Amino acid sequence: MTFEELGIAPEIEQAIRVMGFEKPLPIQEKIIPILLQRNTDIIGLAQTGTGKTAAFGIPIVQQTDVRVNKPQVVILSPTRELCVQITKDLTNYAVNTHGLKILAVYGGAGIVPQMNALKQGVHVIVATPGRLIDLINRKVANLSSVYRVVLDEADEMLNMGFADDLNTILEQVPEDRNTLLFSATMPTEIRKIASRYMRNPEEVLIGKRNASAENVKHLLYTVHARDKYLALKRIADFYPKIYGIVFCRTRLETQEIADKLIQDGYSADSLHGDLSQPMRDTVMQKFRVRNIQLLVATDVAARGLDVNDLTHVIHYSLPDDHEIYTHRSGRTGRVGKDGISIAITHLREKYSVKKIEDHLHIRFERMKIPTGKEICEKQLFNLVDKMEHVEMENDAIDDFLPVIYKKLEWLSKEEVIKRFVSVEFNRFLNYYQDADELTEPVEQRERGRDHDKVRQPRGKDRHSRDSDGTAEKGYTRIFISLGKMDGLVPAGLIEHINHNMPTVKVPVGRIDLLQKFSFFEVKSSYARQVVEQLKDTRYRGSRIDVSIAQGKGAMKEGGENKKSFAPRFDRRSDKPKKRRY
Ligand code: AMP
Repeated sequence: MTFEELGIAPEIEQAIRVMGFEKPLPIQEKIIPILLQRNTDIIGLAQTGTGKTAAFGIPIVQQTDVRVNKPQVVILSPTRELCVQITKDLTNYAVNTHGLKILAVYGGAGIVPQMNALKQGVHVIVATPGRLIDLINRKVANLSSVYRVVLDEADEMLNMGFADDLNTILEQVPEDRNTLLFSATMPTEIRKIASRYMRNPEEVLIGKRNASAENVKHLLYTVHARDKYLALKRIADFYPKIYGIVFCRTRLETQEIADKLIQDGYSADSLHGDLSQPMRDTVMQKFRVRNIQLLVATDVAARGLDVNDLTHVIHYSLPDDHEIYTHRSGRTGRVGKDGISIAITHLREKYSVKKIEDHLHIRFERMKIPTGKEICEKQLFNLVDKMEHVEMENDAIDDFLPVIYKKLEWLSKEEVIKRFVSVEFNRFLNYYQDADELTEPVEQRERGRDHDKVRQPRGKDRHSRDSDGTAEKGYTRIFISLGKMDGLVPAGLIEHINHNMPTVKVPVGRIDLLQKFSFFEVKSSYARQVVEQLKDTRYRGSRIDVSIAQGKGAMKEGGENKKSFAPRFDRRSDKPKKRRY
């Protein structure tokens, strides 16, 4: 099918051809005719990278009436970066469409310029929900003439807590509008929004539900927890042309891994929520223009970073949620290109690996960590290949060549080659000559419930129910906002601790499971770290709140507010106050 056959106007077709679009992608073949001919509501189950922006963006450019100087389309997206990207894409489709004004409005940037632009009149608003509400409340965004609303990455917007804002905005736009909802996943909250605000929506499914792109290979490297970083380095070295994102679980881990990579001479940087917006912008721009080969990032910070041709996605930590795995992997293998999604795991993550495989119907290819020799071979051929294909057009070199020939004339051709290759290559040779090969962990038989990492204090029932709320000597009691009602079981809790703290052995003591929340003990020296690492993680989809438990009363369930268990801090030392239980 051609763009013309889809009904796309010639001036837009010309614009997108310049952008390199030769023929419509499947999502465009399905959605563009629906919008141009029938204007039905659409639920699009599609990930980024499928071409969905053009699928909804091209009809918007074509159908918006530039003579009406009022907002006619609202596109909502979860992040500032995505707003900017969508605006840029739409502006490109509209280069030959005179007078169409598209404006991005998002939080974290000055509101006054956005207000001024709105006052001058725009046709299409691309917004993050919170900022749009702000602008509506200030009476500068009037949505009474809107004929189409697009909710892009709806699941992400809900994950980011925008549910109420979406409801408020959807209440503000005329009822007879056309609504499009795009989402990589379809949780019940999205279904609820759809049934409340959409009329007989047509479902368009691009790719299998929950499946990762078919042109993505899933590789699994299993190593000892302590070797994860070394494994990452070997993988990066094994793919000299790697251009990818390394996903970590926490901001702390992200920063640590990026720092180590930089220190070890890799072209890497970090992206996480502790960085200021200008710093994040700089890092993302450096990554976009490929000044950085490896971006170490948290899931939240990487959202909205639109980079299309990642060669690899690396899961330095596997996500708890298989949907996040799909999202991460969807960043490679975009638009017909092959991609590689690599999980670096340790044995205790076996269960998480299986969960992802089962849910997504994918199978990880079990890989062996490349040996030093294999890496050197790969690097060497890459270097030789680079040398073979290097541009030789630069005449400026010619002037120096006679002197260089003279200086090297005592060497044979073979020696010259060897020396040139060594200049670049010695770094790898030296490192891998001395480096121990990484050994593969051997699966041990589980000894009852005594997990290999977790040590249990002697003579204690780890999950006795009649505890008096006093921690074992040397252990600290931790409150966790999950209980039996959330499906929490001791083995699951231990696995969750192990999973989030792969590099340390955390001795866990007694576990007291209650209905709505629970307590567990860990060796006191690890308590703060455990709280830090587990805070805001998810267990079976529920976000976890953890804190150091306070007082005996913490044991009583019901009637008490969870907040009362929050750690109390000694103002001077910023450490939890010592209390006697
Ligand atoms: P999206 O899913 O909207 O993030 O699009 C992913 C990438 O595909 C973007 O870089 C688009 O520019 C590109 N793209 C969209 N439609 C086409 C097309 N018909 N042909 C080639 N590339 C496209």
